[in-house]
Amino acid sequence: MLLTRYLKLKRLQLIAVCCCVMQVATVSEAKSNANSKIRPVAVDSIVLHAVGGPYCKHGRVVYSGAPGDAHRWRIFFEQHKLLGIHYIVDRRGRVLSSISVDRVANHALGWNERSIGIELVNDGDGREQITSLQWSAALELVKQLIVRYPNVTASRVFRHSDIDRRTFGCAGARVKQKQDPGWGFNYAKFIELLG
Ligand SMILES: [Zn+2]
Repeated sequence: MLLTRYLKLKRLQLIAVCCCVMQVATVSEAKSNANSKIRPVAVDSIVLHAVGGPYCKHGRVVYSGAPGDAHRWRIFFEQHKLLGIHYIVDRRGRVLSSISVDRVANHALGWNERSIGIELVNDGDGREQITSLQWSAALELVKQLIVRYPNVTASRVFRHSDIDRRTFGCAGARVKQKQDPGWGFNYAKFIELLG
Protein backbone atom coordinates (compact mmCIF):
# COMPACT_ATOMS: atom_id res chain seq x y z
CA MET A 1 0.00 0.00 0.00
CA LEU A 2 2.68 2.43 1.04
CA LEU A 3 4.86 1.34 -1.84
CA THR A 4 1.99 1.90 -4.25
CA ARG A 5 1.48 5.37 -2.87
CA TYR A 6 5.17 6.10 -3.11
CA LEU A 7 5.28 4.94 -6.72
CA LYS A 8 2.25 7.09 -7.55
CA LEU A 9 3.97 10.08 -6.02
CA LYS A 10 7.17 9.36 -7.94
CA ARG A 11 5.16 9.04 -11.13
CA LEU A 12 3.59 12.43 -10.50
CA GLN A 13 7.03 13.89 -10.03
CA LEU A 14 8.23 12.43 -13.30
CA ILE A 15 5.39 13.34 -15.58
CA ALA A 16 5.13 16.84 -16.86
CA VAL A 17 3.07 19.09 -14.68
CA CYS A 18 2.04 22.26 -16.41
CA CYS A 19 4.92 24.52 -15.65
CA CYS A 20 7.65 22.08 -16.46
CA VAL A 21 10.42 24.22 -17.92
CA MET A 22 13.33 21.90 -17.59
CA GLN A 23 15.14 23.09 -20.67
CA VAL A 24 16.55 26.16 -18.99
CA ALA A 25 15.98 25.47 -15.34
CA THR A 26 18.69 25.65 -12.79
CA VAL A 27 18.34 24.46 -9.25
CA SER A 28 19.05 27.98 -8.05
CA GLU A 29 15.73 29.07 -9.53
CA ALA A 30 13.68 26.33 -8.00
CA LYS A 31 12.47 24.75 -4.79
CA SER A 32 12.50 27.18 -1.93
CA ASN A 33 13.64 30.57 -0.74
CA ALA A 34 16.93 29.11 0.35
CA ASN A 35 18.04 28.29 -3.17
CA SER A 36 16.06 30.70 -5.31
CA LYS A 37 17.65 33.95 -6.37
CA ILE A 38 16.55 37.50 -5.66
CA ARG A 39 14.76 39.04 -8.64
CA PRO A 40 17.10 41.00 -10.92
CA VAL A 41 14.20 42.97 -12.44
CA ALA A 42 10.91 44.41 -11.22
CA VAL A 43 7.76 42.33 -11.25
CA ASP A 44 5.57 43.33 -14.20
CA SER A 45 3.31 40.33 -14.76
CA ILE A 46 1.41 37.43 -13.25
CA VAL A 47 1.16 33.98 -14.83
CA LEU A 48 -1.77 31.71 -14.00
CA HIS A 49 -1.32 27.95 -14.15
CA ALA A 50 -3.20 24.75 -13.50
CA VAL A 51 -1.31 21.90 -11.88
CA GLY A 52 -2.48 19.26 -14.36
CA GLY A 53 -1.21 19.15 -17.90
CA PRO A 54 -1.15 16.97 -21.01
CA TYR A 55 1.33 14.31 -21.98
CA CYS A 56 1.47 11.49 -24.49
CA LYS A 57 0.79 7.95 -23.29
CA HIS A 58 0.67 5.03 -25.72
CA GLY A 59 -0.14 7.36 -28.57
CA ARG A 60 -2.92 9.22 -26.74
CA VAL A 61 -2.98 12.63 -25.08
CA VAL A 62 -3.83 12.24 -21.42
CA TYR A 63 -3.75 14.65 -18.48
CA SER A 64 -1.68 14.23 -15.37
CA GLY A 65 -4.46 15.21 -12.95
CA ALA A 66 -4.08 17.19 -9.75
CA PRO A 67 -5.29 15.22 -6.73
CA GLY A 68 -4.98 16.76 -3.29
CA ASP A 69 -4.95 20.19 -1.73
CA ALA A 70 -2.66 23.21 -1.66
CA HIS A 71 -0.57 21.71 1.13
CA ARG A 72 0.13 18.58 -0.89
CA TRP A 73 1.16 20.60 -3.95
CA ARG A 74 3.34 22.97 -1.98
CA ILE A 75 5.28 19.95 -0.77
CA PHE A 76 5.48 18.73 -4.35
CA PHE A 77 6.93 21.98 -5.65
CA GLU A 78 9.26 22.52 -2.73
CA GLN A 79 10.68 19.04 -3.14
CA HIS A 80 10.97 19.30 -6.90
CA LYS A 81 14.51 19.67 -8.19
CA LEU A 82 13.62 22.19 -10.91
CA LEU A 83 10.17 23.69 -10.52
CA GLY A 84 9.01 26.36 -8.13
CA ILE A 85 5.96 28.54 -7.60
CA HIS A 86 4.95 31.57 -5.57
CA TYR A 87 1.33 30.74 -4.71
CA ILE A 88 -0.95 27.72 -4.80
CA VAL A 89 -4.75 28.05 -4.70
CA ASP A 90 -6.69 24.85 -4.12
CA ARG A 91 -10.27 23.78 -4.76
CA ARG A 92 -11.45 24.86 -1.34
CA GLY A 93 -10.03 28.34 -1.86
CA ARG A 94 -7.03 27.86 0.36
CA VAL A 95 -4.05 29.98 -0.67
CA LEU A 96 -0.54 28.96 0.30
CA SER A 97 2.65 30.79 -0.55
CA SER A 98 5.82 28.93 -1.39
CA ILE A 99 8.71 30.92 -2.85
CA SER A 100 8.72 34.54 -1.71
CA VAL A 101 7.49 36.96 -4.39
CA ASP A 102 10.74 38.91 -4.24
CA ARG A 103 12.55 35.81 -5.48
CA VAL A 104 12.60 34.01 -8.81
CA ALA A 105 10.50 30.85 -9.13
CA ASN A 106 10.87 28.50 -12.06
CA HIS A 107 7.31 28.31 -13.41
CA ALA A 108 7.19 29.83 -16.92
CA LEU A 109 9.94 29.59 -19.49
CA GLY A 110 11.37 33.03 -20.25
CA TRP A 111 9.13 34.79 -17.73
CA ASN A 112 10.51 33.70 -14.40
CA GLU A 113 12.50 36.80 -13.48
CA ARG A 114 9.66 39.25 -14.09
CA SER A 115 6.52 37.34 -13.16
CA ILE A 116 4.67 35.95 -10.18
CA GLY A 117 3.42 32.39 -10.65
CA ILE A 118 0.11 31.15 -9.30
CA GLU A 119 -0.88 27.50 -9.51
CA LEU A 120 -4.55 26.57 -9.45
CA VAL A 121 -5.01 23.02 -8.20
CA ASN A 122 -7.01 21.73 -11.16
CA ASP A 123 -6.69 18.93 -13.69
CA GLY A 124 -6.15 21.46 -16.47
CA ASP A 125 -7.99 19.23 -18.90
CA GLY A 126 -10.82 21.63 -19.69
CA ARG A 127 -13.32 19.31 -18.03
CA GLU A 128 -12.73 20.12 -14.40
CA GLN A 129 -14.08 23.59 -13.65
CA ILE A 130 -12.38 25.95 -11.24
CA THR A 131 -14.49 25.97 -8.07
CA SER A 132 -16.21 29.14 -6.91
CA LEU A 133 -14.11 29.20 -3.73
CA GLN A 134 -10.96 28.81 -5.78
CA TRP A 135 -12.07 31.50 -8.21
CA SER A 136 -12.77 34.02 -5.44
CA ALA A 137 -9.50 33.27 -3.67
CA ALA A 138 -7.46 33.61 -6.86
CA LEU A 139 -9.23 36.83 -7.78
CA GLU A 140 -8.59 38.34 -4.36
CA LEU A 141 -4.94 37.26 -4.47
CA VAL A 142 -4.37 38.82 -7.89
CA LYS A 143 -6.13 42.02 -6.85
CA GLN A 144 -3.82 42.30 -3.86
CA LEU A 145 -0.75 41.70 -6.02
CA ILE A 146 -1.87 44.37 -8.51
CA VAL A 147 -2.10 46.86 -5.65
CA ARG A 148 1.33 45.84 -4.42
CA TYR A 149 3.05 45.89 -7.81
CA PRO A 150 2.25 49.03 -9.84
CA ASN A 151 3.71 47.59 -13.05
CA VAL A 152 1.19 44.77 -12.96
CA THR A 153 -2.17 45.68 -14.48
CA ALA A 154 -5.06 43.47 -15.57
CA SER A 155 -3.57 43.34 -19.06
CA ARG A 156 -0.38 41.89 -17.56
CA VAL A 157 -2.14 38.88 -16.04
CA PHE A 158 -1.49 36.00 -18.43
CA ARG A 159 -2.42 32.38 -18.78
CA HIS A 160 0.53 30.07 -19.13
CA SER A 161 -0.99 28.98 -22.44
CA ASP A 162 -0.70 32.59 -23.70
CA ILE A 163 3.04 32.86 -23.28
CA ASP A 164 4.41 29.40 -24.08
CA ARG A 165 3.80 28.13 -27.60
CA ARG A 166 5.74 24.88 -27.39
CA THR A 167 4.25 21.63 -28.59
CA PHE A 168 5.01 17.93 -28.20
CA GLY A 169 4.49 15.06 -30.58
CA CYS A 170 1.88 12.37 -30.00
CA ALA A 171 0.88 9.75 -32.56
CA GLY A 172 2.15 11.93 -35.37
CA ALA A 173 0.29 15.06 -34.25
CA ARG A 174 1.63 18.19 -32.60
CA VAL A 175 -0.08 18.99 -29.29
CA LYS A 176 0.13 22.25 -27.38
CA GLN A 177 2.24 21.57 -24.33
CA LYS A 178 1.08 24.38 -22.08
CA GLN A 179 -2.71 24.48 -22.10
CA ASP A 180 -3.16 25.74 -18.57
CA PRO A 181 -5.14 26.91 -16.77
CA GLY A 182 -7.40 25.73 -19.59
CA TRP A 183 -11.06 25.90 -20.49
CA GLY A 184 -12.18 25.21 -16.92
CA PHE A 185 -11.05 28.73 -16.05
CA ASN A 186 -13.03 31.71 -17.38
CA TYR A 187 -10.10 33.97 -18.14
CA ALA A 188 -12.08 36.70 -19.89
CA LYS A 189 -14.39 37.08 -16.90
CA PHE A 190 -11.44 37.01 -14.50
CA ILE A 191 -9.70 39.87 -16.33
CA GLU A 192 -12.95 41.82 -16.53
CA LEU A 193 -13.39 41.59 -12.77
CA LEU A 194 -9.85 42.84 -12.22
CA GLY A 195 -10.98 46.06 -13.85
ZN1 LIG B 1 1.71 26.19 -16.25
